[in-house]
Amino acid sequence: MFYKSTRNSNLNVSGSMAVLKGISDDGGLFVPNEIPKITLDDIKNIAALDYADRAKFVISKYFTDYTDEEIDHCTKNAYSTANFDTDNIHELTQLGDNMYLLELWHGPTCAFKDMALQILPYFLTTAAKKQNFDKELVILVATSGDTGKAALTGFCDVEGTKILVFYPEDGVSAMQKKQMTTQDGSNVAVCAIKGNFDDCQNGVKKIFTDDSIKAHLENKMAAFSSANSINFGRLLPQIVYYVSSYATMVDTEQIELGEKINIVVPTGNFGNILAAYYAKLMGVPVNKLICASNANNVLTDFINTGVYDRNRKFFTTISPSMDILISSNLERLLYLLCGENDDTIKEWFGALSTEGKYSVSDDVKAKLQNDFVAGYCDDNATKSTIKSIFDDYSYVADTHTSVAIKVYEDYVNNSGDTTKTIIASTASPYKFCSSVLDALGVDTANMDDWAMLEKLSEISSTDVPAPLAAIKSKAVRFKETIESDNMPEYVKNFV
Ligand SMILES: *Cc1c(COP(=O)(O)O)cnc(C)c1O
Repeated sequence: MFYKSTRNSNLNVSGSMAVLKGISDDGGLFVPNEIPKITLDDIKNIAALDYADRAKFVISKYFTDYTDEEIDHCTKNAYSTANFDTDNIHELTQLGDNMYLLELWHGPTCAFKDMALQILPYFLTTAAKKQNFDKELVILVATSGDTGKAALTGFCDVEGTKILVFYPEDGVSAMQKKQMTTQDGSNVAVCAIKGNFDDCQNGVKKIFTDDSIKAHLENKMAAFSSANSINFGRLLPQIVYYVSSYATMVDTEQIELGEKINIVVPTGNFGNILAAYYAKLMGVPVNKLICASNANNVLTDFINTGVYDRNRKFFTTISPSMDILISSNLERLLYLLCGENDDTIKEWFGALSTEGKYSVSDDVKAKLQNDFVAGYCDDNATKSTIKSIFDDYSYVADTHTSVAIKVYEDYVNNSGDTTKTIIASTASPYKFCSSVLDALGVDTANMDDWAMLEKLSEISSTDVPAPLAAIKSKAVRFKETIESDNMPEYVKNFV
């Protein structure tokens, strides 16, 4: 299996090289040159395995240049109960007849990003050995909140790496900010940017392709890589949990082997839902993929009209990890849908960067609508969903998951579809305590962050996640805020 770029179909690099580089030199994203297939029998067989071995099964189909031992090393270290608070790594919780929440936040930072960022450092350090790569890897991260902490945790004190995280000053929750700015480790740094997530992401993308910064790194015997979902090594572990959760549904007799399911994903950068699409292409029986957005509904409009237009107001919402107007991973989907035509992709994404807008062909739009349904909801609807889910099921869902639940409820009301449905639950409600408590009608005016954690614990009859409780006693290490124009300088000084 080789990897090519969405902007150069003739490229041919190995899986380990794609992971090391993160993004292709032409600015495109790495994609496998074919999607490996799995059978229903495979799915039945992996149901008997633990999560690490399920992951090994899927990963070995894509990273054919890694040996069995190497993949074992990655999966066993990443997916262990030393890092996750449940043996199953993920949990499937049924709410209502056809609705299942796939809880992906049992890792060390309480967000689904851990599913990929616990294993990415192993992929990378293994890849560096395989490629005889003797430079220091500098991981640059743009985060809307959860990726930053998950990446810092994954790479903390990993030999041969350094990690620098940029986050939007006012675009993350209080807990997300504390999680990042108190991070331990001698190889880490965290810096706030004046601007929103798109400014951070654009800044990082520019730095990746800036020749003068690259030269500076060469001099220091260092090179960039990415822990954002532009790195295929981030996407691959996300494909695993869709295959795995389908196997669990069959194993627990929630569905028959071969029965189609829907998958709903609260979406920002389009990475998580793209992973679900890859799972479908591999052979997991999927009916509809439902793309849920908050008030930043650029993807809803795109899927419904075929026109991607980022020229619109940016909203700061209570689901901040979805406050994104430029969804990077859409490029991978469109590359597949347009018949892997790199010229078409260059044209559309060129228009996106110059005019902020592009329209896809009718053919691509039809294919898009065949697999995807899209919807969105605002903060008020998100809050009333948190409340109604709690009233009906005594279950507290976080703000992002609640956007997905609301969009799913609207979809069912419109379509009457009774297909069993998995909703990706992407964060623990404890990460977004003040919004969640507010939705539940609790007056938080006189509570500090820790009082809020306790209150949510009392209301939901669940324990405060240990990693969040531990932050209380930690000192803030990183206090700097800079203009996005100063990011290149900041990076040079860090390296
Ligand atoms: C990152 C994130 C999302 C969005 O996921 P994408 O892969 O960027 O679409 C949704 N919810 C939470 C809690 C997240 O951290």
